[in-house]
Amino acid sequence: VDAQAHPDAAALVQSLIIDVPDFPKPGILFKDLTPVFQNPEGYAVLIEAFASRYRALDVQAVVAIESRGFLIGAPLAQSLGLGLSLVRKHGKLPRKTFQARYALEYGEDHIEMHIDTVQPGMRVVLIDDLLATGGTAGAALKVLREAQAEVVEVAFAVELAALGGRSSLGVPVFSLLQF
Ligand code: AMP
Repeated sequence: VDAQAHPDAAALVQSLIIDVPDFPKPGILFKDLTPVFQNPEGYAVLIEAFASRYRALDVQAVVAIESRGFLIGAPLAQSLGLGLSLVRKHGKLPRKTFQARYALEYGEDHIEMHIDTVQPGMRVVLIDDLLATGGTAGAALKVLREAQAEVVEVAFAVELAALGGRSSLGVPVFSLLQF
C-alpha cells in the first residue's frame, strides 16, 4: 500500500468507520474504528497522516493511551523511528508509576505511566483513537506534566467536537476527523 500517494486519507478513513447507535448504552453513538484497522489501505493512510505531520514537528517520543491508542501509537512510533511510551489502565505496569485519576460517567478510574519512560524536557506527541469529553487525555496529560514532558500536541483519529474536549486540554490538539 502506498499510503503517501493517497489523495484524501481522511475521506478513506471516514468511509471505513461504522457508527453504532446506543453502544455501550442508550444515547451514545459509538464510532467503531475496527474496520479501519482491518483495512490495509485505511490503516496505512491513517498512520501516514500522523507520521507526515510529526516528522515535521521534531518529536522525540510517541506516548499512547491504552488500548486503542496503542493501535495508532505503535505503528506511528515505528514509522517515525521513535520509541513508544505507554499510558495504561491502573494495575498493569510493574514498576513505579505516575498516576492520574479521571472521571467516568459513573465513578472514576486512573491511569499510570512508568516514571522513567519519558525524560524531562522530552518533546512528545500523545495519541489516542478518539476525543470525547477529554477526561482520558486530560489524565494522560497530567502524568506527562509530572514527568516534565514537553507535549507538542495531542492527536486523535476522531474528535467528537460537540463535547468540547479540545478546549479542556490546554495543549495543541490535532484530529484527523471531526464529527
Ligand atoms: P473521553 O475521556 O470522554 O474523551 O473518552 C475517550 C475515550 O473513550 C477514548 O479512548 C475512546 O476510545 C472512548 N470513547 C468515548 N466515546 C466514544 C464514542 N462515541 N465512540 C467510540 N469511542 C468512544
